[in-house]
Amino acid sequence: MNGEIVETERALVSAMEPIYLGIFEGIKAYVEGAVLGEGKLNIFQWKPHIDRLWRSAAVNGLKIPYTKERLLEATREAIRANGFRTNVYIQPRVWPRANVEDEVHVVVPTWKFETRLGKENPRFSEERRFMISSWRRIASDALPPQAKSWANYANSALAAREAKRCGYDGAIFLDNRGFVSEGTGACLMAVRNGRVIAPPVSASILESVTRGTFLEFIPEDLGIPVEVRDITRVELYASDEVFLCGTGGEVTPITSIDDIKLGTEYPGPITRQIAEYYAEVLAGNVEKRRSWLTPV
Ligand code: PMP
Repeated sequence: MNGEIVETERALVSAMEPIYLGIFEGIKAYVEGAVLGEGKLNIFQWKPHIDRLWRSAAVNGLKIPYTKERLLEATREAIRANGFRTNVYIQPRVWPRANVEDEVHVVVPTWKFETRLGKENPRFSEERRFMISSWRRIASDALPPQAKSWANYANSALAAREAKRCGYDGAIFLDNRGFVSEGTGACLMAVRNGRVIAPPVSASILESVTRGTFLEFIPEDLGIPVEVRDITRVELYASDEVFLCGTGGEVTPITSIDDIKLGTEYPGPITRQIAEYYAEVLAGNVEKRRSWLTPV
């Protein structure tokens, strides 16, 4: 925190902080060899995540007073200080200091998480009933979803709360034009007739690192065609498979949307294939994709 290793209980700031302009990143480090194992850790897609942190800061008018290399070293120091040897979530946070012009707090919290990837992981196949939210995703000419601002998550919280209140496991947003946008904390992909379809950045989505990763490896490594284009609500209902993708939720298959059951098999075969391959990439078992990993 601000250049030092600090215990969580001592990571304190004033209640007067102007937190509404805060930004953050969500990054993960996975165990080498097998995502359900224990051992040496690699950070996944460090560069695009940290570049996005800098872009989010620029959008909100914040200046990060460290180099990207220093932030990587700080992240490594925090992971080592905790002695972590299983998968770690890393959430750099930046926000303006109270009453000090042009200065920010920079904190890099790290904690352990349980993956839902990995062969035979029962968490992957749990049923998930989703609804289309009555809340629209924030429009990019009001609060840009491309910046990873905390403020954006107030919109997500409204949709997630509505879904829970209505008895669903999660929500999918439409954008302000009425096309499919994203989940409350992850991007969405649909599978129709053997093709993977993803909404474009112009559909009010976060420019997700996982989405970018998938759009690269799905056609190149798995030979499955991908399309980036607007998706209508009814197309989603008539998809063979729908899943969310993101650093936090990894690959999250969806069973039904607005109680309309998707496809004939759950989780669908393409969702499974993508998730299994992704787990191998994260564990460093795919030689050609090792450049996406940064050792801790
Ligand atoms: N959309 C939203 C709203 C998110 O919060 C996230 C998680 N960061 C994503 C998409 C997925 O982004 P990424 O793959 O970069 O984690």
